[in-house]
Amino acid sequence: MKVAEKTVRVDLAAAAVPHGERTVAARDSVYDPVMTARHVNVYYGDKQAVKNVSLDIGRNQVLSMIGPSGCGKSTFLRCLNRMNDTIVSARVEGKITLDGQDIYDPRQDVAHLRARVGIVFQKPTPFPHSIYANVAYGPRIHGLVKSRGDMDELVTVSLQRAGLWDEVKDRLSQPGTSLSGGQQQRLCIARTIAINPEVILMDEPTSALDPVASARIEDLIDELRANYAITIVTHNMQQAARVSQRTAYFHMGDLIEVGPTDLVFTNPQQRLTEDYITGRFG
Ligand code: ADP
Repeated sequence: MKVAEKTVRVDLAAAAVPHGERTVAARDSVYDPVMTARHVNVYYGDKQAVKNVSLDIGRNQVLSMIGPSGCGKSTFLRCLNRMNDTIVSARVEGKITLDGQDIYDPRQDVAHLRARVGIVFQKPTPFPHSIYANVAYGPRIHGLVKSRGDMDELVTVSLQRAGLWDEVKDRLSQPGTSLSGGQQQRLCIARTIAINPEVILMDEPTSALDPVASARIEDLIDELRANYAITIVTHNMQQAARVSQRTAYFHMGDLIEVGPTDLVFTNPQQRLTEDYITGRFG
């Protein structure tokens, strides 16, 4: 606890958001966040799935969101690039910014937002096209490159950054679906990277993969944070401990606690967090 108080600046305005009788543990601080969420509520029809959540997304770091199934992690994640817009019954309240701009502003171009805040899903979903075309698709529709040579370069760099280049460089014209599950997931990461995002959201990106492929993705996440802000939903606490610098614990729609991952796991400030990480429920 002493260590936490000495080394972690406390941003009370951002972290100590009163919610009912509970106050979110205030030992979290993010310098110059790329995204901020303030007082976010999400409803599906009459049912509230996310309750008054305020949270920052830091640059060049991994934030993991953990908590029992159904506690609102994916719903909150999808708010960050307006994927919930596609769900008719979903309603989002509160304010979310990207580089200081309100992403729910009516003037916001949603396709552009989703290029800047990319998302990787649980199940790898390559398009039914070649490996090359999967990566080239986004840059093409967003008009990011002018020549075939520039596109070749962008596809190469994206596949390299996704740690897939060496495995596919001799078969770029083969279907993306011909790859293994782990390779397909890295192809989806390459596709996301190719449109030059600032933030990458990942919704349980390894839960459909075997342990070896999962470990490969975890290593990749650690490498990617040199260039991107990453927010990952995971039901795997060991994974959260391995890959993230900050961890947020959700419970029944509430953000219970957020802080440096090592502190959340070794010295949780809330009883609910402690019960979850010690396996009393979840
Ligand atoms: P988690 O990611 O923590 O498992 P979710 O965000 O998926 O939680 O779900 C939070 C709550 O919202 C759950 O009660 C779930 O049933 C509900 N929910 C999620 N998606 C939808 C949807 N498309 N329509 C209605 N309810 C939903």
